[in-house]
Amino acid sequence: MSVILNDLVKEEISKVSEVASYLFSKGWAERNGGNISINLTEIFTGLPESFDEFTYVSVANFPKEAANKVFFVTGTGKRLRELNKPEKVSCIIKFDDSASGYHIIWGGNNDPSFRPTSELISHVKIHLDKIAEGSDHRTIVHTHPIELICMTHYYRFNTDEQAFNFAIWSTLPEVRAFVPRGVGITPYTLPGSEALADLTVAALRSKDVAIWNLHGALATGRDAHEAFDFIDVANKGATIFLKCLASGFSPLGMSQENLDELVEVFGL
Ligand SMILES: [Zn+2]
Repeated sequence: MSVILNDLVKEEISKVSEVASYLFSKGWAERNGGNISINLTEIFTGLPESFDEFTYVSVANFPKEAANKVFFVTGTGKRLRELNKPEKVSCIIKFDDSASGYHIIWGGNNDPSFRPTSELISHVKIHLDKIAEGSDHRTIVHTHPIELICMTHYYRFNTDEQAFNFAIWSTLPEVRAFVPRGVGITPYTLPGSEALADLTVAALRSKDVAIWNLHGALATGRDAHEAFDFIDVANKGATIFLKCLASGFSPLGMSQENLDELVEVFGL
């Protein structure tokens, strides 16, 4: 059983498919690495009269605010590189009235054992927080960008958020301009845990990208392209920084004055 998707929903899913292909070609989405979701609640139309024929999955401890929300989510154990066929590796879920479970109403390869990403709690909590703070961000991208992860393996950047941001911002003006709030570093936490969800929600209240120490990065945007851009630009800074070191010299780096001038002139 599957519902019929309207054009707005199809368009957002097609952006996810395109972005997933970038993630894979960059080497950031090995095997089943990474996950993507969209809060479709405001644009979804055509909910079925009855949900009896759809797979129902119970959940524990999900926020009550998730009730009746509709999300597109990639599937657990699925390859992002196969998102050119989204109905096979992703699904659309609708939470019930009490947020004690959800129905899978589209996709999931018509397989009753299909489940959304194991990071579902993080995705749902972030979406709810974005709604609560009046943000228009409706898409979340989590991926494994090589150079950003590499930075977190250095003891200093593992804990010092300010040093991390200065290192990537000072590599080229665009990083300062297009990741204006910088990245937030969360301590290493078990993937899929509620603790990781809460740390990520907190990081994204003041930063454009949450860096999961020794794991990956997560960002939100109005659509999949915008969420990808934040991570892509931050990773560009990390790449330049590390390439300088690999070439045998420390990066000269723009000065704090140079960075402050950008903030002032461009109103960042
Ligand atoms: Zn991951």
